[in-house]
Amino acid sequence: MNKPQGRIDTKSKAAFAEAKQYIPGGVNSPVRAFKSVGLTPVFIDRAQGSRIYDIDGNEFIDYVGSWGPLIMGHAHPEVVEAVKKTAERGTSFGAPTELETEMAKLVAERIPSVDIVRMVNSGTEATMSALRLARGYTKRNKILKFEGSYHGHSDSLLIKAGSGVATLGLPDSPGVPEGVAANTITVPYNDLASVQLAFEKYGEQIAAVIVEPIAGNMGVVPPLPGFLQGLRDVTTEYGALLIFDEVMTGFRVGYHSAQGLYGITPDLTCLGKVIGGGLPVGAYGGKRELMEQMAPSGPIYQAGTLSGNPLAMAAGYTTLKLLTPEVYELLERRAARLEEGMTANAKELGIPNTINRVGSMVCPFFTDQKVYNYETAKTSDLTMFNKYFGHLLDLGVNVAPSQFEGMFVSAAHTEQEIETTIERHYEALKRL
Ligand code: PMP
Repeated sequence: MNKPQGRIDTKSKAAFAEAKQYIPGGVNSPVRAFKSVGLTPVFIDRAQGSRIYDIDGNEFIDYVGSWGPLIMGHAHPEVVEAVKKTAERGTSFGAPTELETEMAKLVAERIPSVDIVRMVNSGTEATMSALRLARGYTKRNKILKFEGSYHGHSDSLLIKAGSGVATLGLPDSPGVPEGVAANTITVPYNDLASVQLAFEKYGEQIAAVIVEPIAGNMGVVPPLPGFLQGLRDVTTEYGALLIFDEVMTGFRVGYHSAQGLYGITPDLTCLGKVIGGGLPVGAYGGKRELMEQMAPSGPIYQAGTLSGNPLAMAAGYTTLKLLTPEVYELLERRAARLEEGMTANAKELGIPNTINRVGSMVCPFFTDQKVYNYETAKTSDLTMFNKYFGHLLDLGVNVAPSQFEGMFVSAAHTEQEIETTIERHYEALKRL
């Protein structure tokens, strides 16, 4: 590994200036612009395994992993081979293929609550479609979501959202009609009493509760004991659906995803990221009776020109096949060591620190408070985070340019790379 010399970003600066001429803000997804950290985004040339390389020739140990999908590392040889082989036979047919059934079968085998599943092209489409299904099925309009959670950018779900919305401090987006906003109820994460109150007030009108079973868009925030079970109970009592948004956690936190980890069975599950193996994929699935409400077996409409795309299915299927229980054990060991090392660093240097971690999702907050919802996540010292981010980048470690996103450890991170990361983390903290 090259010794980090301090980053040079001449070419990235020029590329960003050029991009801004033709793309809004120079990027195709907001947080990529590094706006909140006040830096020039790094333009990527290529990536391999745990490393990513920018166009100036800098090398970084990467903990972004394309924001979660690349759990096996960048350009995994088997995934690349599967995509190549598939591409040679045609990139899209708009007609059914056997691979789609294989993929659906695999998802249904691994995700406890999923009998059947529909493939879409992004996490946004997955959650948007699941909500339509919930509303169509229950004939109710309201949905309940949690502050600081992000479920993609469809209208109903852009209220008090996390991820880039939180990073850029845009609690509600212009362009979301008032009527839509009025049908979205938001309450604090991990706060069952507020959920109960909302149901007492609006219970007969609530179609669904949508929740990230481990919140990953306000940093990493695990569910408190009893929270998910409480959601299961209250939704059942009022005849609302429970939707787990496992776009981030699905196949990330365990062989059976977050619902397997906590033993809770939602009605619907949304997936994305890892199931696409780095290609654009989302999915939503659940009980047969519910899913068969969707066209063509039922009346609720949802479609997609490129849905079930062969390249995406090949990348996703190969990735899922690589994800054996042993891989999750390896991820747990690596991420636990990273957490331990970063905790020791902060302690030694007297820097405020709370690290939340579930499996390979890790998030160091610059606060000494426990972080269990968006309010407590916001106690993190963001000025400190922004400086830390820049130092880490200079030292050759790439993390998300936002306090409200976690680090993703991949199976490609070696023991040695974790140790190197801990050393660089120490140096970054020391420079604060
Ligand atoms: N749900 C969750 C939990 C997510 O983390 C994300 C993306 N970060 C989405 C939905 C939206 O997925 P996409 O960006 O693929 O539309």
